[in-house]
Amino acid sequence: TEPRTTTALTGRPLAEGIRRDARERAAALAAAGTPPRLVVVTATDDGSALWYVRSIAKAAAAVGIDCDVRDLGPSASRARIRDTLRDLNRDPRVHGIILQTPLPEGLSPAGLAVEIDPAKDVDGANPASLGRCAAGLPGFAPATAEAVVRLLDHHGVELAGRDVAMVGRSLVVGTPVALLLLERDATVTVCHSLTAELRDRTSTADIVVVATGVPHLIGADHLREGAVVVDVGTNATDDGLTGDVDADAVEGVAGALTPVPGGVGPVTTALLLSHTVRAADRATG
Ligand code: NDP
Repeated sequence: TEPRTTTALTGRPLAEGIRRDARERAAALAAAGTPPRLVVVTATDDGSALWYVRSIAKAAAAVGIDCDVRDLGPSASRARIRDTLRDLNRDPRVHGIILQTPLPEGLSPAGLAVEIDPAKDVDGANPASLGRCAAGLPGFAPATAEAVVRLLDHHGVELAGRDVAMVGRSLVVGTPVALLLLERDATVTVCHSLTAELRDRTSTADIVVVATGVPHLIGADHLREGAVVVDVGTNATDDGLTGDVDADAVEGVAGALTPVPGGVGPVTTALLLSHTVRAADRATG
């Protein structure tokens, strides 16, 4: 029998297409006198979070979105962050708002994200945005969760009627991915750190999506042969950026796998920009 190979589900061409479309629409908005504007609120000195924010700002500039970083410092109070979000909600020149995590110790991201106007909530961080998506109402899904679905669609992976194991249940990734895939008629099993026998759940699935932050959690014995695997994990290790899937171990077992980096990440960033342009489009009628 022929040795099987694992197809790489790359995200860069899809991301480039989304950015190209955003660039055209941003240019039209700017020509009409309303350049789209995104504000990222930070209250941390976490190096990887600040690196991520700089990469968003750079990507925004490249498609013609004005991007401001409003740094409130790592000891900002809840009231200060809340008031900043309320000011941005009221500012008609601002179309998109991102509240970057982590927040200062003790502050709940969802508890503050409820302050973001859903019309400007381009990373779907307000729990109301998640509710709107679940109900099929217009609203922004968390960009990473939408990126997972867009990647699967882009690569022609059928979703309706397929069994999906979602490993991870965070409000930013696992739970919204499960809701979006349910909406697409997949049968979704959501796994987490207290799931008994994770392997039993993942090894029967057609599609396995992993978002845990645990490097190399998923190996060959977690998968059925030919499974489609989406690795959302981005973990900084001594060996560089690593996913939650042991890519070497699953090679030849998984039918397809997203690379890390170069899979979900670039699509996520592109979608944040696309959402901002859409928010600006709507705001200007
Ligand atoms: P969280 O830490 O918020 O959530 C992790 C989830 O994984 C939890 O639901 C947790 O379970 C579950 N989990 C942890 N350990 C295990 C285990 N051993 N077995 C099964 N489930 C487990 O992380 P996020 O969802 O925010 O992020 C997950 C990963 O995705 C990270 O690597 C992050 O860097 C990356 N990420 C990537 C993005 C991108 O655009 N590429 C964007 C956002 C995140 P429990 O609920 O029981 O604690």
